[in-house]
Amino acid sequence: MSSSGREIIVIGGGLAGLTCALMLQKGGQKIQLIEASERIGGRVKTDQIDGFLLDRGFQVFQSSYPTAAKWLDLKSLNLRAFRNGCLLRKDDSFKVVADPWRNPLDSLRSIFAPTGKLSDFSKVARFRQRVRSEKDPYVLLESPQTTAIERLHQCGFSTEIIEDFFKPFYSGVFLEKELTTSSRMLDFTFSMFSRGEATLPADGMEAIPRQLAKQLHPGTIRTQTTVSEIRDGLVKLDDGSSLSCAAIVVATEMPAAARLLQADSSYTYRSTRCVYFDAGNAPVESPSIVLNCDMNSIVNSLCCPSRVQPSYAPENRTLVSVTSIGPLDRSPHDHVEAVRDELREWFGSDVDRWRPLSTYNIPYSLPDQSVANMEQIVKTPRVTDTIYRCGDYCDTRSIDGAIRSGERAAAAVLADLKSASS
Ligand SMILES: Cc1cc2nc3c(=O)[nH]c(=O)nc-3n(C[C@H](O)[C@H](O)[C@H](O)COP(=O)(O)OP(=O)(O)OC[C@H]3O[C@@H](n4cnc5c(N)ncnc54)[C@H](O)[C@@H]3O)c2cc1C
Repeated sequence: MSSSGREIIVIGGGLAGLTCALMLQKGGQKIQLIEASERIGGRVKTDQIDGFLLDRGFQVFQSSYPTAAKWLDLKSLNLRAFRNGCLLRKDDSFKVVADPWRNPLDSLRSIFAPTGKLSDFSKVARFRQRVRSEKDPYVLLESPQTTAIERLHQCGFSTEIIEDFFKPFYSGVFLEKELTTSSRMLDFTFSMFSRGEATLPADGMEAIPRQLAKQLHPGTIRTQTTVSEIRDGLVKLDDGSSLSCAAIVVATEMPAAARLLQADSSYTYRSTRCVYFDAGNAPVESPSIVLNCDMNSIVNSLCCPSRVQPSYAPENRTLVSVTSIGPLDRSPHDHVEAVRDELREWFGSDVDRWRPLSTYNIPYSLPDQSVANMEQIVKTPRVTDTIYRCGDYCDTRSIDGAIRSGERAAAAVLADLKSASS
């Protein structure tokens, strides 16, 4: 493949596409990044409504993400962290869990006090030691796998800690309640939590893709343009026009990639719904995530992002974010009222004064991370001699995984260009 001055077209302006475009630009290539929606960011976007910053679905940036740290100026994101540990909602009360990742002993004492499951303390410590023993956390993704729930049982954890901590916590991370996600993702995310903090940027999560986009030369990004078909050296747009190019990188989410690459489309994915409320008083004072131990509830987790980053709400207001992973079949209005009904049990009639700001229904939140899917991760970015792919479905389904896959695709393009010119 030779670029001979022609552009490389990157399709998709999420974190994978932006990282890929940036690395290609640094490699001296001319790039055009084509994005279907009104702005870049993909699944990491933030809306501003009435002075509140609403991330499109609650998500956090792990300060320990190794690949993101290479591409982002973390300092200028002004990250602020949730309190390590969390609050557990169980049997009509809240329990503080100190910090299971860094301080397993104290935290488990706090969950199970006064009974104290001594054997769980040492098992969490051992688990933590194992996942931290690898300098490169991505090595954990090469280990033999089973389901996350099976791995927890294999480690000998008690039913109490599985039901009262691991299930509520990891169901929110994996967006599924049974923990059938691959144990590799359990190891990887545990490692990330134990090495860093869950943070939010001062300007909302979208500040992350914006920072990457800012480094691209002016005119590189073309938004509100959908690619309908690709062939070697040719990109067709849905307005009927075509662009010729030296190479194409498909950096869309998995369903769109399957269409463009005419690949296997039997993908599965995880969905979520996030409701934001404007509240006068914070229902929880601490900047913590509240996990619901009742897995039959609509509310999976709740937090007040503005307790972590005050910029998420106007002065004297509190932003409350409530995440659900199922059931998600109610109308948005009925969903909000069902959430309110549950939270009235938690916080009393204050909840009736909360003003709903927005409800985000995100059917395609994460590609499935089951054992079978993690086995088949497409790590080779090359599809043909001039077509490449990247996206979180090619790596861990995460911010870091998306960035890492973009990096890998750009490296493949640059290597092919180099070998063609030598
Ligand atoms: C609710 C939610 C919570 C999450 N929580 C976390 C978390 O806490 N921590 C974490 O690390 N990760 C989290 N994630 C996952 C993380 O956000 C994603 O893994 C990552 O953003 C995916 O980036 P991507 O570039 O691979 O894909 P995307 O962001 O989906 O980008 C793909 C882009 O391609 C564009 N596109 C599609 N088709 C076309 C076409 N035909 N032509 C042109 N453009 C096209 C799309 O518009 C989109 O902008 C969460 C995701 C969601 C939705």
